[in-house]
Amino acid sequence: MSELSWAETVRIVHQRAGGCCEYCQTCQRVCGQSMHIEHIDPQGGNQLDNLCLACPSCNLSKAKAISAIDPETDETVPLFNPRQQLWQEHFEWVDDGVRILAKTPIGRATVIRLKMNIDRVVTARKVWVKAGEHPPQ
Ligand SMILES: [Zn+2]
Repeated sequence: MSELSWAETVRIVHQRAGGCCEYCQTCQRVCGQSMHIEHIDPQGGNQLDNLCLACPSCNLSKAKAISAIDPETDETVPLFNPRQQLWQEHFEWVDDGVRILAKTPIGRATVIRLKMNIDRVVTARKVWVKAGEHPPQ
């Protein structure tokens, strides 16, 4: 079995995600920031099923976390896993696409931990929506 080079791994992760953050759906071509290769489980290694594309804000906010507190129940739940779960089952766009509504405990914990509705990103999304560039589809 041949191992992928890191450059090839990065290329595949970018392509699979369409150049957009797999948590908050911010797209590289719109935000102008380089996306990060995120380790879903920090101990999980460099294989494709443990990697996702993440914007700098989500990646830095998530850091080494794999779980977080659901603000509604105060229970610790796993963070959203883009390799094993569907975005649409845990989140949806509201307010004309400028805010993410969490639909599940996992969604709520992930929105808070990754600061997915923080003022600076909501302000940026308003500009992207006006320009017809958001939310991505
Ligand atoms: Zn993001």
